[in-house]
Amino acid sequence: MTNPAARAEVVVDLDAIAANTAVLREHVGRPLMAVVKADGYGHGLVPAARAVLAGGADQLGVTVLDEALALRAAGVRAPVLSWLHNPGTDFVPALEQDVQVSVNAVWGLDEVIAAAQATGRTAALHLFVDTGLSREGATMADWPAVVEAAARAQADGHVRVVGLWSHMAYADAPTHPTIGAQVRVFDEAVAIARAAGLTDARLHLANSAATVALPGTWYDMVRPGIALYGLDPLGGSDPAAHGLRPAMTVRGRVMLTKRVPAGAGVSYGHEYSTDRETTLALVPVGYADGVPRAAGNSAPVLAAGAQRRIAGRVCMDQFVLDVGDDAIAAGDEVVLWGPGDRGEPTAQQWADAVGTIHYELVTRVGGRFTRRYV
Ligand code: PLP
Repeated sequence: MTNPAARAEVVVDLDAIAANTAVLREHVGRPLMAVVKADGYGHGLVPAARAVLAGGADQLGVTVLDEALALRAAGVRAPVLSWLHNPGTDFVPALEQDVQVSVNAVWGLDEVIAAAQATGRTAALHLFVDTGLSREGATMADWPAVVEAAARAQADGHVRVVGLWSHMAYADAPTHPTIGAQVRVFDEAVAIARAAGLTDARLHLANSAATVALPGTWYDMVRPGIALYGLDPLGGSDPAAHGLRPAMTVRGRVMLTKRVPAGAGVSYGHEYSTDRETTLALVPVGYADGVPRAAGNSAPVLAAGAQRRIAGRVCMDQFVLDVGDDAIAAGDEVVLWGPGDRGEPTAQQWADAVGTIHYELVTRVGGRFTRRYV
């Protein structure tokens, strides 16, 4: 860590993000929309966007319009799609900043048309169809109405439908029967759109897991997120098997050490107690920093040359390690997770330990930490 007084830092390897993007782009041999939503999955929106573009991404994807506008404000000019819009969203800035938008329903389309009329511009539009996730997108019952309204708006010059898309429920289980079922529904939805004259749109369905493992879902463009950051989308422990390298390392420093006798209860509720005279090390990182409380007595960290489980409950701003008789001092480095090649735990190990997914860990960690780019 560069600043010894910093409580902790998130170190982001931008070359890894660029290289992961290049690996995926090469693997699919077609355009790639890099998903940089949620602050670049916790890696930083603008730096992550620049890194994926350096790695050959053709366009960017974010959920909320503010993220797309933040990219534009930072000077990122690549095509960008934003897709999660509440009723009442003002699409004027999106059109002025050349941000592509997606709609799920005719009312959303009407809002985009209103912005097109107000600005005299043509909106670049993606239509989202729900093929079985039951989340975003028009159901197949509503799809023909959305398509017809979009075709009319296209004929009127208000929109240009540049994408038809959907999202999968089980891409991380490559043999799951819903995959074929969703592909069939998607094909049906595309046929309806084409029959209505929406013939120029790019088709995109595949998230990271599908990008890695399901060529039948690649269509005109893939849309990975988590794999860009080097984490295995299939939940395995070795992203290197897919040519990926984790980009995030989370580190803190020991703030205080103390010798305590056997039988000392550690942290709230004394859910850990020492079984011998030992050294405890306090690490000033807690659940308010996005470290799950469930990491108490479960998740490993690298400290004083070995992986050790967090001792007792994780508190709001700190946790404790029991390092036995090993040498440790205030200021020593503690690595929560990283690529794993220097003996530190990985985000996947943490996810397994606390019963979550690595997505949740990387997107939540570090709001109060310094981010350092290497
Ligand atoms: N497409 C959509 C609609 C998403 O919601 C997401 C992420 O949740 C992605 C693509 C990227 O998914 P992943 O990070 O699994 O690659």
